[in-house]
Amino acid sequence: MMPASDTFIEALPKAELHVHLEGTLEPGLKIILARRNGHPLQDMTEDDIRASYGFHDLPSFLALYYEGVELLHTEQDFYDLCHAYLKKAASQNVLYSEMFFDPQLHTRRGIAFETVISGLNRARKDAQRDFGIRSQLVMCFIREMSAQSAEETFTQAQPYLSDIVGVGLDSDEKGNPPAKFANVFKRARDAGLHVTMHCDIDQENTHEHIRQALEDLGSERLDHGLNILEKPDLLRQARERHIPFTVCPFPNMAIRPSSNEKDIRALLDAGLTITINSDDPGYMQGVYMTEAMKMARDGAHLTPDELLTISRNAFNAAWIGEEERQTYLDRLDDFARKAGMMASAT
Ligand SMILES: [Zn+2]
Repeated sequence: MMPASDTFIEALPKAELHVHLEGTLEPGLKIILARRNGHPLQDMTEDDIRASYGFHDLPSFLALYYEGVELLHTEQDFYDLCHAYLKKAASQNVLYSEMFFDPQLHTRRGIAFETVISGLNRARKDAQRDFGIRSQLVMCFIREMSAQSAEETFTQAQPYLSDIVGVGLDSDEKGNPPAKFANVFKRARDAGLHVTMHCDIDQENTHEHIRQALEDLGSERLDHGLNILEKPDLLRQARERHIPFTVCPFPNMAIRPSSNEKDIRALLDAGLTITINSDDPGYMQGVYMTEAMKMARDGAHLTPDELLTISRNAFNAAWIGEEERQTYLDRLDDFARKAGMMASAT
């Protein structure tokens, strides 16, 4: 079967499960925020900002990401960030998105948890009304910050737990294993929240981190997690438990250039449940969902059937009620039927 066409990918109904809201900050919005808050970046052009981007590993990416985070101050700033992402996602036929946010990067600068979450929630509501896209929030803990800080953040989040569907773990993995956060993840599970965590590519002790995530911390998904391919016992476990993997083609390529060609095909061949996602599109040359799927297709020669499966995996892995899930799956089936008719007519 031929690889999927661009038009097929563009029209495919999609769900996104791995996107960091702070990582969706585009240069244009950076300048608006800088003007609003009197930051020196206001004198730069979008091209200047883009030209300063470049990363080759996790720490060099995080340095960029943290710099951008500093521009977010007010409830309106968080609203604008989230609204811009959801508008873009909806334009790419993303029907549903679970979005990571990093409250500690803001509360440690003296911004109230409430300011952050109020802006994001107002944007979610407006985007659903204006563009029809549904979304939920997944609160991430910053792994190079202390376990105590994560605990305090979870405590601050208590009044807003009905607005948060799950917790995650992101940022600098080196020396910061999932086990460091065992207690706060237990609290989250006990509170009825879902659990996921990053196991980035080629990190120190990656196999042990993947093992802890799956066996000790009750992670329901793995964000990235590609090094599982080197460990048959973990791979078998992930396959048997149908653990969804949130694969992100752009950062994978930046860190391991053969990744989309080899790893995506290897994950599929191993019978794992994969999804395709953008990660931090504001910093990744405008690679949102559609572009990420095209990158995956170009690397792994994904067929329309395989992309339908990948989209179905994402809707099945979403932390939503069964009724809502069924509406998305029906739209996907409808799309598949129409795509099949178009294919046979040409
Ligand atoms: Zn990520």
